[in-house]
Amino acid sequence: MKEIILAKYGEIALKGLNKNTFEDLLIKNIKRRLKPLGNFDYVRQQSTIYIQSADENADLDMVMDKLATVFGVAAICKAAVLEKDFEKICSGVYEYLEDTLTYARTFKVEAKRADKRFPMKSPEICMELGGRLLEKFPHLKVDVKNPEITVTVEIRDTNAYVHAVKIQGAGGLPVGSSGKAMLLVSGGIDSPVAGYMMAKRGIHISAVHFVSPPYTSERARIKVEQLCEKLTGYCGNIAFFCVPFTEIQEAIKDNCPEEYFTIIMRRLMMEIAQKLADKDDCLALITGESVGQVASQTLKAIACTDAVCRMPVFRPLIGMDKTEIVAISRKIDTFDISIQPYEDCCTVFTPKHPKTKPSVEEIENAQNAFDFSEMIKKAIEETEMKLIKL
Ligand code: ATP
Ligand code: MG
Repeated sequence: MKEIILAKYGEIALKGLNKNTFEDLLIKNIKRRLKPLGNFDYVRQQSTIYIQSADENADLDMVMDKLATVFGVAAICKAAVLEKDFEKICSGVYEYLEDTLTYARTFKVEAKRADKRFPMKSPEICMELGGRLLEKFPHLKVDVKNPEITVTVEIRDTNAYVHAVKIQGAGGLPVGSSGKAMLLVSGGIDSPVAGYMMAKRGIHISAVHFVSPPYTSERARIKVEQLCEKLTGYCGNIAFFCVPFTEIQEAIKDNCPEEYFTIIMRRLMMEIAQKLADKDDCLALITGESVGQVASQTLKAIACTDAVCRMPVFRPLIGMDKTEIVAISRKIDTFDISIQPYEDCCTVFTPKHPKTKPSVEEIENAQNAFDFSEMIKKAIEETEMKLIKL
């Protein structure tokens, strides 16, 4: 039986005049994601994209799995393509949904008649098909409020489509519809999750990573690139900026009081990230911070970091527990890479007793002991960019 895939969008459907722009972007993102799986035809109608494979043998389950990673898609289902004739629709439903209906206890029928030339109206289709299904599968009961299975019949221009099983999409908005932001990505568990969460709101991600060789190894950098590769499955292509940070970290160590090392380092990271963000047309920074998780994530410490930021800093994990963050990192499959034991530059020269409640003033005084501006300039000049492709 010929099948088609329906991708339903949620939030975009509520957009007013901009709806077309969102839809165009969503289709473009879907096409890019499905390209390796074959050739498909795309038709959009009533908050749904109808995706039909040109190839009879295409693996539609694989297509569904891929679609489930595309932000902007709220739900996905596979549907049988039937002729627009009520008898044929009925026999198509028996055949296509036999297993599903055999194992269900309750159901209802929903009909959508987009082609008004079809002789039966929607309530009539529901009544008639519902009755036939009760005869054919006598164990079934109708439950219009909370059915296990909703058999949906859509009468469209060229065909009728029948489906019953929906899987959840990734939700959110199409990547790129909200502009671009720079993710500060480490090798840890948190920052990749933060990137994923902002991409879900339609933000196109670029990434910046700070390395301090020889204190951090080549392997640590590769690990971060692998994390970004995983993220491309959700976020699309990522421009990856790798900043040499050794000289700056050594200067902090040699010139600033130890208890302030981490905060000063984080402020310098933010300054560099902002400059790279400007160059790359990013309008905000993203970090994986969460209140209270470590000394540099107390409110006072965050205030000290924020004091150097002139662009918005998004911290989508700020109110989340580690267990919640881990659950998402498992879902997006970054967890196993994140837990590989390679050092991050944050763990180089960590103070034994970091100040957990610094004031902006004392941090500024401590940082002013040394003029970092030339080193910042040099680090940016020596930054390497690599496009990590979907
Ligand atoms: P993560 O799990 O993301 O490493 P964390 O809980 O270990 O976070 P920190 O090490 O204090 O926390 O880092 C806080 C945030 O700073 C990270 O989430 C990330 O956004 C950024 N960050 C840390 N190290 C780096 C790095 N080497 N390069 C770029 N950004 C970094
Ligand atoms: Mg970390």
